[in-house]
Amino acid sequence: MDLAFTEADEDFRKELRTWLDANLPQEMRRSEFWADKSDAEQFQIRRDWEAGKAKAGFAGIQWPTEYGGRGGTPGMKAIYDQEMVLANAPTTVNPLGLAFLAPTVMFLGTEEQKKTIIPELLHNKTIWCQGFSEPGAGSDLAALQMKAEKQGEEYVVNGQKIWTTNAMHGDKIFTLARTGPSEASRHAGISMLLIDMHQPGVEARPLKQMSGASEFGEVFFTDATCPITEILGGENEGWKVAMLLLSFERGSSAIGQYTEFRKMWDEVARAALSTDRDGEPAAKDPVLRQKLAEQLVDLECLKYHSWHILTSTSKGKDLGFEASMTKLMWSETFRNLSDVYSDVVGPQFQVAGRPGVSRGELTTMALWSRSCTIWGGSSQVQRTVVAERVLGLPK
Ligand SMILES: Cc1cc2nc3c(=O)[nH]c(=O)nc-3n(C[C@H](O)[C@H](O)[C@H](O)COP(=O)(O)OP(=O)(O)OC[C@H]3O[C@@H](n4cnc5c(N)ncnc54)[C@H](O)[C@@H]3O)c2cc1C
Repeated sequence: MDLAFTEADEDFRKELRTWLDANLPQEMRRSEFWADKSDAEQFQIRRDWEAGKAKAGFAGIQWPTEYGGRGGTPGMKAIYDQEMVLANAPTTVNPLGLAFLAPTVMFLGTEEQKKTIIPELLHNKTIWCQGFSEPGAGSDLAALQMKAEKQGEEYVVNGQKIWTTNAMHGDKIFTLARTGPSEASRHAGISMLLIDMHQPGVEARPLKQMSGASEFGEVFFTDATCPITEILGGENEGWKVAMLLLSFERGSSAIGQYTEFRKMWDEVARAALSTDRDGEPAAKDPVLRQKLAEQLVDLECLKYHSWHILTSTSKGKDLGFEASMTKLMWSETFRNLSDVYSDVVGPQFQVAGRPGVSRGELTTMALWSRSCTIWGGSSQVQRTVVAERVLGLPK
């Protein structure tokens, strides 16, 4: 296992740091900057800033240069993830487009799709949503019901999606719908459609999360239309396309997440020192000390696991189902650390800030952590994947 980046990768770090120093205003790095801004204002600021970053060449770090990427190494991508966290830079507003859609289009899109979809999403001209989950189809995605009927040169789409990240900001949605017969198999007769969300037949409604934000929503399709050319990977081939698309979550190390949660651990420890418990700092409580130490150990395990993954991917290894172990490790480490924070502060940590006092960054992170063991494959489902596909245990 390599435990250091190459010299060339470190040169990239210097270049990125110099750019961030000059282009990420100090106030944007502080949580107070965002506190009094609406969801829409925050989104627009992040969208514009990220577009500037892409223009400067700090996006699509590992993408081939022919698609506007940097043609970088896995090490450069890991450094990018670290530096963005260390600078407290805004996170991407186009995660589904960048992480899932673009690599899928590079792999199996038509030349026209490659030319139009990729540059537009790289520069945030199009914000993409992912329309997979439905009220009756989450972990069991093949239970999806949305229908798309071919009428002349277009599909007419009816149905509902849910938990759609960025539903209120999306310009387009890559979504799964039933376009053909599925008697032979539930996985048959599904297509991946690329639907324009700015049309009367598409209605997005926000869902309020416990943090107070509405990062996701529901999307209703009522006789929405989609030209038959706006299909990815061929009619009735949607299941295969979806599996390929989801596989792009694999293969990345969790060095960015480690960096973020290690920073969080320091803040939780500081909170334990400054929180009074029966006349003494909470940090003196032996049970809490044990929990903090346990989290530090888990974080170190996450760090070395991340280096192991980075070494493997740098040597060209395809991680396959092993990637589920990374997802399990980072999401559960994050959630457990958040639970320790809740132990330090007490249950009032869940309560919204007092008037004039915004909710702290730690609280927002702790509330967000609850979702990370659900999206992208729940922990229970990931454990089954590891048991059956990595360890070869019987079903
Ligand atoms: C913050 C957030 C953002 C999201 N963004 C998107 C998005 O942009 N687009 C999108 O399409 N979806 C999105 N999702 C939805 C996400 O993919 C689903 O929530 C997830 O797939 C789980 O589905 P479900 O919520 O229907 O739960 P269910 O599948 O109903 O699961 C309920 C519980 O049962 C367990 N369970 C289910 N099946 C099994 C099994 N076979 N074995 C053992 N346990 C099982 C699960 O682990 C879970 O604990 C998002 C979710 C969240 C929380």
